[in-house]
Amino acid sequence: MKVVLLGPPGSGKGTQGAVLAEHFHVRHLSTGDLLRRNITEGTEIGRLAAPYVERGELVPDDLMMQMTGAAVLDAAAEGGYVLDGFPRTLAQAEAAYEFAKPADVTADAVVYFALPDDVARERLSARASAGRSDDADGDVIERRLQVFHEQTEPLLDFYRNRGILVTVDATPPPAQVTRAMLDAMRSLGSD
Ligand code: AMP
Repeated sequence: MKVVLLGPPGSGKGTQGAVLAEHFHVRHLSTGDLLRRNITEGTEIGRLAAPYVERGELVPDDLMMQMTGAAVLDAAAEGGYVLDGFPRTLAQAEAAYEFAKPADVTADAVVYFALPDDVARERLSARASAGRSDDADGDVIERRLQVFHEQTEPLLDFYRNRGILVTVDATPPPAQVTRAMLDAMRSLGSD
């Protein structure tokens, strides 16, 4: 199973991604986590990405492809992936498709976690104490929401046109969202 998760910050992609990966016995690849690890470890990718992550901007597409491409192929070779946080721009989605097509590892399903901005703001502020600097600053939160609407939302049509998009209301408690997500994937024939 090869799944892409889309949704604004705070929509539960990380939580649901972990559940999905366990459900399908595939690897959970979170590009936000990968970037934070690179930043903490002081790698070249981390050094280049840090200023963008801190401001709530998107890391440039070529750097994201460099970091994500091989990891996706590796995971797919082992049975699949849950890709959480990538792609986030149309250019990334198109590049990822071209990259994955020859190896026959393009996504089978895309789950969109829909969440109103107000709920996202509340959740991000609430988890700021968990230590993420990009959750602790109101301006950065606003920028991440704006970036989502401007740059990531257009991907919904891209995947809708491919017939692999399912939408899940991300407002209810996590267990309820999990049930809705698995139901929606079944209806797509992906479970
Ligand atoms: P996340 O943990 O998914 O909210 O990601 C945290 C931050 O990492 C984002 O605000 C971006 O700065 C960066 N990031 C994660 N994934 C991507 C991506 N696919 N493209 C560009 N930037 C990304």
